[in-house]
Parts: sequence; C-alpha cells; structure tokens
Amino acid sequence: MFDKKHELVRKLAREFAEKELEPIAAEIDQTGSYPKALIQKLADANFYGITAPKEYGGAGGDYRSYVIVMEELCRKCAATGTYVSSPNSLMGAPFLLSGSEEQKKNYLKPMLTGDRIGAFGLTEPGSGSDAGAVATTAVKDGDDYILNGRKTFITHAPIADFALIFAKTDLKKGVKGISAFIVDANLPGYSIGKPEEKMGIRGSKTSDIVLDNVRVHKDMMLGKENNGFITAMKTLDTGRLGIAAQSLGLAQAAMDEAVKYTKERVQFGKTIASFQNTQFMLADMETKLNAARALTYSTALKKDKGLEVGKEASMAKYFASEVANELVAKSLQLHGGYGYIKDYTIERLYRDARIVTIYEGTSQVQQMVISSALLK
Ligand SMILES: Cc1cc2nc3c(=O)[nH]c(=O)nc-3n(C[C@H](O)[C@H](O)[C@H](O)COP(=O)(O)OP(=O)(O)OC[C@H]3O[C@@H](n4cnc5c(N)ncnc54)[C@H](O)[C@@H]3O)c2cc1C
Repeated sequence: MFDKKHELVRKLAREFAEKELEPIAAEIDQTGSYPKALIQKLADANFYGITAPKEYGGAGGDYRSYVIVMEELCRKCAATGTYVSSPNSLMGAPFLLSGSEEQKKNYLKPMLTGDRIGAFGLTEPGSGSDAGAVATTAVKDGDDYILNGRKTFITHAPIADFALIFAKTDLKKGVKGISAFIVDANLPGYSIGKPEEKMGIRGSKTSDIVLDNVRVHKDMMLGKENNGFITAMKTLDTGRLGIAAQSLGLAQAAMDEAVKYTKERVQFGKTIASFQNTQFMLADMETKLNAARALTYSTALKKDKGLEVGKEASMAKYFASEVANELVAKSLQLHGGYGYIKDYTIERLYRDARIVTIYEGTSQVQQMVISSALLK
C-alpha cells in the first residue's frame, strides 16, 4: 500500500511534529492562541496542498500522503489538524472541483502558500446535520448578489481573509437552489461573532460569520448557480478522510500515553502494566487502533486509484473517530486520578478527541450516509 515516498513523507511529518508541535501543544491548548509563524511553517513544509497540483502551489502528492501527514501532526497537536485539513480539503477541494482559473489563482494558490486563510461556511444555527436547510440568501441585483444570513461554528472565521459561503439562490428548489460564493472578509456588511470558548482543539479559532447585505460580484460565485450543495457534499468526501486521519493521530497519542504511564506507575508493588487486566485493555486498544488505521489507509488508496469513496470515507471517519474517543477514555482511566489533571497530556487528548465524532458530519450522519449507500 505504501512505498518509499510515503515512508519519507511520514518521516518528515513526524520530525516536524516532534520539533515544532510537541514542545508547544500544551501552551497552545492553555492560551487558545496559535502562533502565526507556525501557520507559515506548515505552509513552507508543503502541508497545505498535499494533493493539489504544483501549478497552484500544491505538492502534487496523493491521498495516502495526506492521511499520513494528518495522522503524524495530530499525534502531537490535534488543533494543527484544522490548519492542515482546511486548505487540503474543505477549502481546497471546492476550488479544484468547481473554481475558475482566476479564482484558483487569487484564492487557492495564496491559501496553499500560507498567504491567505479561508473558512468554509456551511453550518447555520438552524442547519447542522440537515445541511441542506441553509437559510442564508443570495439575491441577484444586476451583476451582484446580495447575501444575508448567519453561519455558525465556522473554523478559522476569526482569522480568515475570505470565506466560502453557501447560500440559497433559489428558494423554491431546496438543496438544488444552493450556490457557493467566495466572500472577502473585508467587504461591507461582513462581520464575525465572538470566538467560541471551546472544550478542545482550542488552538483552532471558531466563530459565527454574519452577512448583512453583503454585495458580492457574480464572478465570485464558485461553480455554477444552484450547484453549491453538490460541491459541498463532494468536498466532504475528502474532508471525512482527513478527520479519520486526525482521529488516528489522537488515538495513537492516547496509546502512546497509556503504554508510557502503565510501565511507570507502581501499585501493589508492581507496575500497573504487569496486571493482566491492563495488558488486555492495551491489547484491545491497539487492535481497534490498527483496524481504524487499515480502514482509513485503504480508503485513501482507493481514492488514489480514482475510485468513488463516499461510503468508505464515511466508514473511516465514523469508525476512527469513535475509536479515538474510546481510546482517550481508556487511556485516561489507566492514568487514574492523574489523567484528570491538566499536567498530563491525556487530559488534553480527551477534550480534543471529543470533536472528531461531531464535525464534518456527526457519527449518526455517517451512519445515514453508509446505510443509504447500502440500501440504494
Ligand atoms: C469546533 C467546531 C468546528 C466546526 N467547523 C465548521 C466549519 O468550519 N464549517 C461548517 O460549515 N461547520 C462547522 N462546524 C459545524 C459542524 O459540522 C456541526 O456542528 C455538525 O455538523 C452538527 O450539527 P449541529 O451542531 O447543528 O448538530 P445537530 O444537527 O443539531 O445534531 C444534534 C444531534 O442530533 C443528531 N441527529 C441530527 N439529525 C439526526 C438524524 N436525522 N438521525 C439521527 N440523529 C440525528 C446528531 O447526530 C447529533 O447527535 C463545526 C463545529 C464545531 C463544534
């Protein structure tokens, strides 16, 4: 499944994570602030456009490389996963799927080189799992569209230079009446809400985006009118693969902490790793982690072969994210009271992992996608 090139990618990503992320991951979590210089270092390492063509500033690599990079970086700092996954998937894929040359040059390329940050605005207060229930409107006015609405929980909104906004251009057509617009954050009427105080991935900034009569030129529509929902759904196929890999990184980190701690901690005159109960728990954790890894890697390989992976990406995201949550909980349990204290890495991992079964479609939404593919 992997060749020498993938081994090299893993080595580079692992070294980057150990050198640049591990020493400051706890501080990023405590302060909730992510160093600007690190955002650029990730771009310089070519992590923002792993599968994107070189002409747009990408690395021209494959999805196996993307999954490996996400896994290795998130093993040391899960918040970093949002900085890397956004240009690679949620924000990169729509441009590659539907963007004009001009749009790719002005928005995709600067995003992949770290010069501009984008935010993916689909979710709204009344439209979460039911992503087609978008209420934001875009009304044609001459050569412009006037956008009104509120997007919620938008990753990187507080630091974004522009957002991709999904809005209704035809109120009568349901999901077939949604279009995507590139909206510059400095346009009159564009504002953001208060950055959310989050439980985990605190180095990733999240807020609402408010659109109050924002005038956007028709050339800023991404793809065809009323085709936005299709672009969003196709984009999420790749996105889910990235979250599966983020989950693997978190699960591996939980495993690392469990192995290290149980070999050190002594009770009843022995390390707790010497109790068979602990050994069997670790064996279960390792088995589930590797099953999640096999599912994620095989989905990436299938995507590299140009095959359809909608169902597989959902299965990988569903399984890996649930496994990550199981493993952080079990690793914390193995730490006893110390796991509940902020000085121990597992406390952060436990909070960070909580997001992976929620964003880019909850586990229940993945179950819907998987079962509808089965039953169609
Ligand atoms: C930190 C963070 C970052 C995010 N980043 C972004 C972003 O960048 N861009 C963006 O557009 N969105 C983003 N989101 C939004 C995220 O994708 C949504 O929160 C998620 O899709 C769930 O929607 P909801 O929160 O409205 O929950 P709801 O849809 O209200 O779901 C609540 C519960 O009901 C369940 N449920 C809902 N419908 C069904 C059903 N039919 N059958 C069974 N169970 C169901 C869900 O599984 C869940 O358990 C982010 C969210 C967070 C928390």
